[in-house]
Amino acid sequence: MHRSQHSIEGPLAVEPDDFRRELVRTAHWVADYLEAMPESPVTRPLPDQHRRRLSASPLRDGGQALPEFLDFIKTDVAPYPGGNGHPAFFAWITTPPAPIGILAHLVGATLNASCGYGENALVDLERGAVRALADLAGLPQGTGGVLTSGGSMANLLCLAAARTWFLASRDATDGVAHDDIHARLVCYQSTETHMSVTKAARTIGLPPSRIRHVPVTADLRMDPGRLRAAVEADLVAGLLPFCVVSNLGTVGTGAIDPLPEITRVCREHGLWHHGDGAYGGLGSAHPDLAPHYEGVAELDSLTVDPHKVLNVPIACGAALVTDAGRLRAAFSTRASYLDGNDEWPWLSESTLELTRPGGRALSVWAILHQLGRDGVRDLLEHYLSHARLLRELIRERPDLELITDGPWAITCFRYSPSSFDGDLDVLTTRIARELQDGGKTFLATVRVHGTLTLRASVCGHRTTKADVETLVAEVTRIGERLTAH
Ligand SMILES: *Cc1c(COP(=O)(O)O)cnc(C)c1O
Repeated sequence: MHRSQHSIEGPLAVEPDDFRRELVRTAHWVADYLEAMPESPVTRPLPDQHRRRLSASPLRDGGQALPEFLDFIKTDVAPYPGGNGHPAFFAWITTPPAPIGILAHLVGATLNASCGYGENALVDLERGAVRALADLAGLPQGTGGVLTSGGSMANLLCLAAARTWFLASRDATDGVAHDDIHARLVCYQSTETHMSVTKAARTIGLPPSRIRHVPVTADLRMDPGRLRAAVEADLVAGLLPFCVVSNLGTVGTGAIDPLPEITRVCREHGLWHHGDGAYGGLGSAHPDLAPHYEGVAELDSLTVDPHKVLNVPIACGAALVTDAGRLRAAFSTRASYLDGNDEWPWLSESTLELTRPGGRALSVWAILHQLGRDGVRDLLEHYLSHARLLRELIRERPDLELITDGPWAITCFRYSPSSFDGDLDVLTTRIARELQDGGKTFLATVRVHGTLTLRASVCGHRTTKADVETLVAEVTRIGERLTAH
């Protein structure tokens, strides 16, 4: 086969045949790595010396040959994974990459389009991906938004949009009126809310004293009565409640706040209602979860994190705003060297980032279109059915105590045999640590109403029944050993 040979010049240039060979070698490595993963340790401790070497990485004067890159990954990087690619990984909500997402990232880097400014097809795919996410989440037609680096950034964008909207509604976007109102803004979240919401509120300029943590009821959902009381007390004190952040799946236990009641408080008092659905924002797409999402269409904005339940490769979140113009109002400042487009507004006008990765948009688009609507439901069912199995196994064992069980796929439990009379929090910590170091499976811990629990989140498309059984076997094996007299 004849291939045109362009002249190869420049410090970064690579001979076409060398590049092709390296691409193929890398592709084989990617496939081998993923295939071998279930039999590999979930994580492997990083020796301190190795960490120091990687952290320093001094530059040589001369560069290195192309193949050295993959060699280095094989020996120095890949052996020390975070664990989240592994099917027996149950910690946090950090998921494995969908295979098509890996392809999309490679293609995205090849096209190297920016989804911030200028026109290219990936910008439109991002718009399409955002629309599809909004539909799956149950948000109304006309919802717009942008992809982000994750849930934290999406929460920040939505809080900024809420703040701009509130100031604009009082004709206070500048000057003394702005300063007066800004100094009295208050936002509300529950005591179970992810810390990224507090970070976002701090970043838009709220001091801790104007960020309220509303108590939850026994089921860990925001107490709407307590919310109403807090808002009304703040109004009486001359403050300006402007935004409530509800949880659509808390990071701790997956609890979903009572959306209709919270919306009612927001509407009565003129507040923006933001939903943090970084984990659970797509619950409407599954019939068992959908009843908890009644009222989701009334939200003003919603965060979803495709790098969680959709298994989009890290990093990808989305900020969805039902009146898309409100997001643009917060971020559109045109510069003379950027010639925007009114019919198809550049996405950089709706977010903080100017240059934005096309691979992210391509990855979400590819996964959603591989799955289709039915596939998204089936993927959620995959998590829920494995969580049900885990709960059955926990219930079968008298030495395991089930502490929270749903409606999402997070399960909190403890190893607490009746014969044990020591400190259960200490025991729980030791079980988690030993299990994490063991390399067979991996989970994290969380406090539920003050009690330290083992927390297992099923959120990987590759997790199997055997992985769930391994988790229970490891917890009980370690627990029995630690409590043996
Ligand atoms: C993960 C998570 C976040 C933060 O998202 P990142 O993608 O990690 O920035 C925020 N809220 C909830 C409920 C989450 O589960």
